[in-house]
Amino acid sequence: MRAAFLGLGAIGWPMAAHLARQHELTVWNRTRSRADVFAAEHRCRAAATPAEAAGGAEVVLTCLPTSAEVEALLAGEMGLEAGLAEGALVLDCTSGDPATSRRVAARLAARGVAFADAPVSGGTNGAEAGTLTVMVGADEPTFARAKPVLQAFGRRIEHLGPVGTGHAMKAVNNALLAVNIRAFAEGFAALVKAGIPARRALDVLNTSSGRSFVSESLVPERVLTGAFPPTFRLALLEKDIGIALGLLEETGVDGALLRRTRELFREAREALGEQSDYLEAVRMVERDAGVEIRG
Ligand code: NDP
Repeated sequence: MRAAFLGLGAIGWPMAAHLARQHELTVWNRTRSRADVFAAEHRCRAAATPAEAAGGAEVVLTCLPTSAEVEALLAGEMGLEAGLAEGALVLDCTSGDPATSRRVAARLAARGVAFADAPVSGGTNGAEAGTLTVMVGADEPTFARAKPVLQAFGRRIEHLGPVGTGHAMKAVNNALLAVNIRAFAEGFAALVKAGIPARRALDVLNTSSGRSFVSESLVPERVLTGAFPPTFRLALLEKDIGIALGLLEETGVDGALLRRTRELFREAREALGEQSDYLEAVRMVERDAGVEIRG
């Protein structure tokens, strides 16, 4: 199949690499040099503009920071819309927001182009392994077309409902991840200060009812070791909490805990910078408590 991938960031790159193995792929990236390096490494084509990337493609995948960048990519002479052929399919793997995606879908539908929101979970490791979970919002026929394409990098491809529902699911997932990270850091800073070694406390937690993906997977690999590898920007997680809060507001659910969590992640981003990794939120708690959770 002729495919295009736009947005070769931390997670987009390994996702596109899987597509390059199965399809005739063209890539585009805002910083052209990244697209050139990718194209040389994966023996595919790099396009100069989104329009050029979309030209002749049956399926176009996007993976940008937010839905705002996706929407902005559509317009203009060099934009996606200028290159998309009638009958093409756009799959947006951005962790975006439902309202913007519904707008984008309507705009593309008017040109005979199908759209699905298809955000992913599983991190850069999952993207490299091709084991991502993909949360899809689309009508039934669009999902049927999307699924085999998404299987290039996804193990579990879930259809949640109409356009926007994939983004809603992803935002709530990530909001819960953020709550877990912050709660873990607060609790463990206190345990270490109380004299319980972090490794021992973690072993007990992970056979007890307070355990989570954070405590079972992220903490042993990245926090106890002090490695904190940069895989997912904290600024993007803060964005996801905001999207989840938008959903709560839309549905009339009070978001007391998520509002506070967003404030804490905003403070962390302001202190640590735009490029900091999401798990560095733990470092903020450590700094304020004057203790390190290592072991
Ligand atoms: P990065 O910040 O690593 O990369 C962002 C990508 O978007 C880059 O290719 C960047 O291009 C491009 N970009 C940024 N701004 C613009 C713009 N205005 N116009 C066009 N292109 C732009 O992000 P990630 O790859 O980590 O994340 C991408 C999406 O995937 C986000 O929605 C994120 O929440 C989600 N996600 C990320 C995960 C992860 O583990 N990293 C896990 C699951 C979801 P350039 O190279 O020029 O900067």
